[in-house]
Amino acid sequence: MPYSYDPQNIFAKILRGEIPNKTVLETPHSLAFHDIAPQAPVHVLVIPKGPYVTYDHFANEASAEEIVDYTRAIGEVCKMLGVTPGAGDGGYRLIANSGDAGVQEVPHLHVHILGGRVIGRMVSRSA
Ligand code: AMP
Repeated sequence: MPYSYDPQNIFAKILRGEIPNKTVLETPHSLAFHDIAPQAPVHVLVIPKGPYVTYDHFANEASAEEIVDYTRAIGEVCKMLGVTPGAGDGGYRLIANSGDAGVQEVPHLHVHILGGRVIGRMVSRSA
């Protein structure tokens, strides 16, 4: 079944400027902002500006320009946040919850960048 994008989701409203956000970085095709309910000392979300629901949706249907912009934006945000292991920083976890099994709450692609402490196990053993 093809993806259907809900333009009333909260990140679409952020992109339209209808609700505020704490912006970390804005690029032509991407926006990074602080999570409203941080689960670690560093907790930033990076979203593409285009109407993509999940990572696979984006990976399969976005333009090469959007994909490069989004990927570079994630890399730049990691540097800005001071979490890149290559620079001697403490590291981070990148998460893209997708669909029901991934327990995705907001149906607009976003990656979480979590750091500033040891994040713990990759997944819990149970739901
Ligand atoms: P997910 O479960 O991966 O869909 O995560 C959605 C994330 O969006 C959660 O971590 C929320 O805290 C975050 N969130 C929801 N509303 C906002 C908002 N207005 N600004 C920033 N983050 C938000």
